[in-house]
Amino acid sequence: MSFVSHLEGAIDGVRLPADTLQTTHEDRPILVRYDLAAARSAVTKDALADRPHDMWRLRELLPVRPDAEIVSLGETATPLIPCPRLGEALGVPNLLIKDESRLPTGSFKARGMAMAVTMAKALGVRRVAVPTAGNAGGALAAYAARAGLECFVFMPEDTPAVNRAEAALFGARAFLVNGLITDCGAVVRQGAERFGWFDMSTLKEPYRIEGKKTMGLELAEQLGWRLPDAIFYPTGGGTGLIGMWKAFKELAGIGWLDGATGETPVPPSMARGETPIPSVKMFSCQSTGCAPIARAFEAGERFAEPWENAATVASGLRVPRAVGDFLILDAVRESGGAALAAEEARLGEWMRLATATEGVSLCPEAAACVGALRSAADAGRVGRDETVVIFNTGAVQKYTEAIGAPLPRLDRERVDWSAIEKTIGTGQPAPMQ
Ligand SMILES: *Cc1c(COP(=O)(O)O)cnc(C)c1O
Repeated sequence: MSFVSHLEGAIDGVRLPADTLQTTHEDRPILVRYDLAAARSAVTKDALADRPHDMWRLRELLPVRPDAEIVSLGETATPLIPCPRLGEALGVPNLLIKDESRLPTGSFKARGMAMAVTMAKALGVRRVAVPTAGNAGGALAAYAARAGLECFVFMPEDTPAVNRAEAALFGARAFLVNGLITDCGAVVRQGAERFGWFDMSTLKEPYRIEGKKTMGLELAEQLGWRLPDAIFYPTGGGTGLIGMWKAFKELAGIGWLDGATGETPVPPSMARGETPIPSVKMFSCQSTGCAPIARAFEAGERFAEPWENAATVASGLRVPRAVGDFLILDAVRESGGAALAAEEARLGEWMRLATATEGVSLCPEAAACVGALRSAADAGRVGRDETVVIFNTGAVQKYTEAIGAPLPRLDRERVDWSAIEKTIGTGQPAPMQ
């Protein structure tokens, strides 16, 4: 058995049965709940030493039953890279980047889709579909291929070229829709009734979030079972941020976030039946081109109004309306963080600052985190001595439209050495004002 106790409607806490196919409840997300006391007595931190370093590592806090086939492409633990020079430029020298670009299909979407496809297959699904603004389509196509499921992908016409190509390349039936991701979502919804495919949209089934939760489990372990002071996370649909906050609560719930090794005593909160609040500020980062969550945060609202005319090169952030808006905003507020919008026009500059200063393959979505961190540091929301983690959710190589740079040409017969000489000593990125 797994340690799943039940599923829960996130909007009203209603209990729903696990082990049957679930979608949403009251058009809002469904969350997986665990018997944390049982999970706690089934595993120790030391027992993890013998397990592979991948997303399936802490299986006591995952929904997969031990007899289920895991659909995997090798979801390796991703590195946590110290970035002191970029950190210094932003005013927080203790900066780390968790580099999710290493995962299958080049983005953290792999974690969510590996888990959702594993669960869907175990529950008898044969055909899956997803709307996507970027990386979700390729990730689902790859895992569906791996699982032998039929896959349908619907994306806006202006989806980045690599994302358009990869969905088809991995065997999905892929279609372009003249609209936004919300319009693609409507096609998937209607098709679910017509063709009986299972809707894998963000937060329209309970398990993608459990896959993304593993980012939080992994980060805590990499930091010696402590949390950083602040996390900057690029937010579109919000599964990553909601998933991590859930991971931290579950780890705190089993008493694992004290930095100690070995046996952990029963946490006092568990004895009292309370959920402890993990101590890490969660920052939800968007672009001024599409910032419904940041706007709702500013306005003090729990639900976010849809964003009109959403436009950003950070395709993963182009989500005008998130079904899990209240879960994102609750997590941000409960943690003492904030939802911030970084200037769309400066995403390219921040992306290049990070890639050229530290060599990390930083995607435009994560560039919004760099901008948001800069303004949070300026506003005193994070202190100079604090440890900050930015999540790099995807590989910059997938964004050919956003990274195109015209290169000077050389004639092989008569090399213009002065043109080369002029560039010597100019390789450092411009300091930020
Ligand atoms: C999908 C995506 C996001 C947004 O993810 P959510 O967790 O759904 O908010 C951020 N960055 C990249 C690269 C993405 O593909």
